[in-house]
Amino acid sequence: MKLLIMGPPGAGKGTQAEGLVKEFSLVHVSTGDMFREAIKAGTEMGKRAKEYMDKGELVPDEVVVGMVNERLSQDDCQEKGFLLDGFPRTLPQAIALDEAIEALKINLNGVINIDVPRERLMARLTGRRICRNCGSSYHILFNPPQQEGKCDNCGGELYQRSDDNEEAVSNRLDVYENQTQPLIEYYIQKKLLKNINGDQEINKVLTEVITSIKTTSNISDYDDSLPSCC
Ligand code: ADP
Ligand code: ADP
Ligand code: ZN
Repeated sequence: MKLLIMGPPGAGKGTQAEGLVKEFSLVHVSTGDMFREAIKAGTEMGKRAKEYMDKGELVPDEVVVGMVNERLSQDDCQEKGFLLDGFPRTLPQAIALDEAIEALKINLNGVINIDVPRERLMARLTGRRICRNCGSSYHILFNPPQQEGKCDNCGGELYQRSDDNEEAVSNRLDVYENQTQPLIEYYIQKKLLKNINGDQEINKVLTEVITSIKTTSNISDYDDSLPSCC
């Protein structure tokens, strides 16, 4: 299966992705995680991306598109399928993804849109903590780890992302509304969009997403050889 997960910053894409990749044995492809890894590794791309990320701006399309195309063509994504998280975020990225998918001779099975009102997102993002080792997402109030400052999955140290401060978050929310939200209509037109209420308890959201994937005909079509239109 080849899926996208969309939604504003803080909607719970990363949190839901963790449960979904386990449930459907998919490869999790998160552009935000890939950039943070590049920053940690000190690569040229990481240094370039960090300047945009810290301000809450989007990394230029050509940088992101090249990185995603390379990742999707790798064997694990081809064999297991993937859940793309945080991409596309602009119309040119969505068009580039369509081209990449066509070139790889695969179909997108569905686009999950996690819907959360803007007024909830600031508190979610400023209270977010991330595992330095595995990237798992926690919240100091809404989803605290069992032991303060430590990841439940791997014991790694939890930290606060440098872009999860009020100024960068506020900019990211504006960028989302102007550049990414229009993609909802793009995927409605393609009959791929599954809208999920993300303003509910984490496990309830996960159950609804899984049910939507299993019950929607073009998503539950696990046989990728069939066209997604049927
Ligand atoms: P995204 O990847 O969409 O930016 P995350 O999955 O990192 O979002 O979640 C953002 C923050 O909100 C995290 O601190 C996470 O623990 C918390 N969170 C995720 N889903 C929910 C939810 N349904 N209710 C309350 N808090 C949530
Ligand atoms: P969030 O959890 O807030 O949705 P991500 O971890 O997905 O954020 O992304 C963090 C930052 O990485 C973004 O604010 C942006 O600067 C950059 N980034 C991630 N994905 C993309 C993309 N598809 N296009 C441009 N920039 C991106
Ligand atoms: Zn961890």
